[in-house]
Amino acid sequence: MTETPLFRSDVTVELVKHSAADTDVLWAARVSTAGEQSLEEIDKDAERSKGLINYLMRDRHGSPFEHNSMTFFISAPIFVFREFHRHRVGFSYNEESGRYRELQPVFYIPDEQRDLVQQGRPGKYEFVPGTPGQRKTVCEEMEAAYRQAYEAYRRMLEAGVAREVARAVLPVGLFSSMYATCNARSLMHFLGLRTRHELARVPSFPQREIEMVGERMEAEWARLMPLTHAAFNANGRVAP
Ligand SMILES: Cc1cc2nc3c(=O)[nH]c(=O)nc-3n(C[C@H](O)[C@H](O)[C@H](O)COP(=O)(O)OP(=O)(O)OC[C@H]3O[C@@H](n4cnc5c(N)ncnc54)[C@H](O)[C@@H]3O)c2cc1C
Repeated sequence: MTETPLFRSDVTVELVKHSAADTDVLWAARVSTAGEQSLEEIDKDAERSKGLINYLMRDRHGSPFEHNSMTFFISAPIFVFREFHRHRVGFSYNEESGRYRELQPVFYIPDEQRDLVQQGRPGKYEFVPGTPGQRKTVCEEMEAAYRQAYEAYRRMLEAGVAREVARAVLPVGLFSSMYATCNARSLMHFLGLRTRHELARVPSFPQREIEMVGERMEAEWARLMPLTHAAFNANGRVAP
């Protein structure tokens, strides 16, 4: 336990548990034609397997992509989790509790790569880096507000106030942690909405911080299911 605020600009994404492979898609799809022999078909023809996965993705036969599981440990600011938890289907979540645990003073501050200024009208705007003066203001104001909020939290705890009451003063830039379990289909839906990509048929404009989480999850998934990942990209990054 530390009482000195820590400021972070990155997120943590760790794949802690998984049962996920391209072959999970293949046997699930081939039960349609091969029945109980579908498991034996898996290793028969790599090129045919690739073609089948691509066909399923293209024609949006989604259920074969659900027979797998990935559990991620994610540590990110609370505002990222608020966006993340809107994804209701095919995701299971457990998050650390501000009622049962004293919250640690770890806070988000954007780094040099994070664009700070929004230009244009809603729905048609872009982000630009901002001036050094704006960057300095962001860092100073965030640090000051975080420190003040955390000191108030600590003073209330020291006065005997319950954690669940005292936490009300803590901001959405505070880091939280959770386990999130999903399958390839639900992850693809998430990635289609929460990452920007040149291959996306339907462009999305996610907040950069949840995109950082999505990019790290995608890298883990691509390693486990390379054929499925390639087919996702080849078909415009639209979840089947
Ligand atoms: C760039 C961006 C900006 C956003 N801005 C806002 C915002 O300003 N305010 C805001 O409140 N939210 C906002 N959201 C959240 C968004 O509206 C969705 O809640 C979020 O992206 C989760 O998507 P989803 O519902 O498709 O996912 P899931 O909840 O995982 O659902 C997956 C799919 O299941 C089906 N489904 C799930 N539930 C239902 C249901 N009840 N009825 C019918 N079909 C269902 C749909 O086909 C859905 O696409 C934003 C999201 C993005 C990506």
